[in-house]
Amino acid sequence: MQKIQNYINGELTAPVSGKYLDNYNPAEGKVYSLIPDSDGVDVQNAVEAANEAFALWSSMAVEKRADILQRIATLIDRDLDKLALAESVDQGKPVKLARSVDIPRASANMRFFATGSMHFASEAHITGSEAVNYTARAAVGVAGCISPWNLPLYLFTWKIAPALAAGCTVVAKPSELTPMTAFLFSQLCIEAGLPNGVLNIVHGLGPRAGQAIIEHPEIPAISFTGGTVTGRKIAATAAPMFKKLSLELGGKNPNIIFADCDLEQALTTSILSSFSNQGEICLCGSRIFVERGLYTRFVDEFVKRTRQMTVGDPLDEKTNIGALVSEAHMNKVLSYITLAQEEGGEIVTGGKKVKVAGRCEGGYFLEPTVITGLSHQCRTNQEEIFGPVVTIMPFDTEEEVLAYANSTSYGLSATLWTENLKRAHRVSAQLKSGIIWVNCWLFRDLRTPFGGMKQSGVGREGGWDALRFFTEAKNVCIRL
Ligand code: NAD
Repeated sequence: MQKIQNYINGELTAPVSGKYLDNYNPAEGKVYSLIPDSDGVDVQNAVEAANEAFALWSSMAVEKRADILQRIATLIDRDLDKLALAESVDQGKPVKLARSVDIPRASANMRFFATGSMHFASEAHITGSEAVNYTARAAVGVAGCISPWNLPLYLFTWKIAPALAAGCTVVAKPSELTPMTAFLFSQLCIEAGLPNGVLNIVHGLGPRAGQAIIEHPEIPAISFTGGTVTGRKIAATAAPMFKKLSLELGGKNPNIIFADCDLEQALTTSILSSFSNQGEICLCGSRIFVERGLYTRFVDEFVKRTRQMTVGDPLDEKTNIGALVSEAHMNKVLSYITLAQEEGGEIVTGGKKVKVAGRCEGGYFLEPTVITGLSHQCRTNQEEIFGPVVTIMPFDTEEEVLAYANSTSYGLSATLWTENLKRAHRVSAQLKSGIIWVNCWLFRDLRTPFGGMKQSGVGREGGWDALRFFTEAKNVCIRL
């Protein structure tokens, strides 16, 4: 069985303990590879390598650094099919989604920050005729980057690319549920000639390998994407050590449909924003609010289209919804469907496991599920489910829907559908979310700030925000 290896000091290595964990193919429900069960010793080795490499990498001419990162992007493009297949097998997502979204975005991340770093300039402030201030930004040191399982290579590169581009060396840990493409990525880094120790990838469990990264005194900056509960633990460890922290956490995003919307566009996109990647995207709109005049028509049409979705083998090009990432996660999602019924909800469609014949009969498949009849306050509508499950609720006024939308402890993203520009501005201004999409969803420009309010996180990724995060600013004031 294939053994995934750590990538430390430029070499693919076994964990020092020699221990491995099972890695599942969620579409088959079977172990298909092994992953290092790394611990603090492996993390220590990775930090030493990263520290050793820092002087060379941080002082390298920015063009040369960018060149190496762009070479990695080119290798990702070359291996598109191989990486897409690996992502689909490891995560359960349809291979066509991995081929069209996940892997192209991984190379785009590398290219975006590589080229961006060449335009990253120091600021200067002229204080009348009395002084000149300039702000030098230097790489913060060894950065710790920890990513989740839903968009494995996409989010892994979204963190490490700005860190490396800013001149940091990195100790990174992908999710233990989806380690494969980060492993393949480490092979591409070697092929691209990334100097030893610049990027180190330590595989393993969050509480063991992940926690060792967070606690390490020589890692001054942590960039984390994952659940809010984990984010809280990380903040509790890192805050007293005064580490720089970027936290991208969970969401419970509202999708608001006004009666004056372009219904066809709203329906087509809402199906995607509900069920893409099995609903396992932090930006999925899991609470759909529809203005009362349109409610019945919207629900009927939305349910009809939901029933037309194909749940099945992720490697089949016709599949819209693949497998959930793990049995434990599938059971968590199922428990919320039971809860929704206990809370008085009606399962209009879906709600059950799907048996896919043949190779995938042991896989973790669920029907896309639509629930109506719930209040916005119930647990089903307040807690993140992170699966192919949406609720639909009617509303009468703007004030009412704003109160519903803002009623959770999360504030990641919101989508709204209206042809009325004034309303779009007014509602956007009052939504307590870091990212608002008007008449679209997941339409990304990598220069824009990305992140959440409230318990959806701290800080913003993307564009200059990401490059600045991985640097320390030093102001020099020269009295004239
Ligand atoms: P998770 O919090 O369980 O794990 C995320 C990562 O943290 C994994 O690599 C895990 O091993 C590691 N980890 C766990 N405990 C740790 C600890 N004590 N110290 C250090 N590392 C630790 O999240 P998940 O289940 O992998 O991902 C799903 C969650 O991620 C959802 O809540 C989703 O909304 C969120 N998410 C947010 C964004 C965003 O941009 N805001 C993007 C994608 C996913």
